[in-house]
Amino acid sequence: MRSFTTRFAPSPTGFLHLGHALSALDGWSRARKAGGTFLLRIEDIDRTRCRPEYEAALLEDMSWLGLDWDGPIRRQSDHFSDYADALTRLQAMDVIYPCFCSRKDIAGASSAPQGPDGPLYPGTCRALDSDDATARQAAGAPYALRLDVAKARALAGDLSFEEEGLGMVAARPERLGDVVLARRDTPCSYHLCVTLDDALQGVTLVTRGEDLRPATHIHRLLQALLGLDVPRYAHHKLLSDANGVRLAKRAGATSLRALRQSGCTPRDVRSMAGYSEDLSQPSSPSPLHSH
Ligand code: GLU
Repeated sequence: MRSFTTRFAPSPTGFLHLGHALSALDGWSRARKAGGTFLLRIEDIDRTRCRPEYEAALLEDMSWLGLDWDGPIRRQSDHFSDYADALTRLQAMDVIYPCFCSRKDIAGASSAPQGPDGPLYPGTCRALDSDDATARQAAGAPYALRLDVAKARALAGDLSFEEEGLGMVAARPERLGDVVLARRDTPCSYHLCVTLDDALQGVTLVTRGEDLRPATHIHRLLQALLGLDVPRYAHHKLLSDANGVRLAKRAGATSLRALRQSGCTPRDVRSMAGYSEDLSQPSSPSPLHSH
């Protein structure tokens, strides 16, 4: 039996905010209560957006908040070869294809159905003749590798995963469409790396925000294709500000350092993220609201 293991997996593309504090506290307090393991993983595959100063800041913020982690930190940028191996295996199964569409092409495609995160890829390059695609790749045309979800699903059969509060959930990866698994500038994607790393690191419970719930359906499919262990999932509510606007780094959400500079103690911040003094029991978030 694998021992109870959770993780926090931030991307160092900005300063941690209260939403991150909630995710980190959620994983950490469950692991500590269960006498299990809490891992920290730095998801820094996007070399254009990730910065060492943000990584240093997030380590400092976590320690300030009173959170410790077990074992070495896994930094995804040290493991590009693991992701490349997984892509090679998927390629051998013939479930990925090169896509030459730009973001603009996709946004402008009138046939693009809407998914939870915006327009779904309409499948333009799925049917490209493979000689034609190879010639375009050889000529240096920029391309991404996409998962052929219908083909992969046919291969994997019906799948489900266990989600806290919902029980067994049938996987519906088609909700996110043919997601990108690699790009020319970033040779692997969030979906591929997170799925592989959770398995490689023996994570038994993935805790993260409910905005990532649709992604879990894709991750379940990748687990089946790659023969990986399937963790349980718990998706927590997202925090919103006093106006009901969801906290997100890009919207200039209150960073933990700004809160600290304004005089908040770690205890104040923990309670704003919904964690009470003894760090083990979630309480109702205050003064922010969850929704
Ligand atoms: N790096 C991802 C993020 O910061 C992690 C998501 C996850 O926990 O799966 O959103």
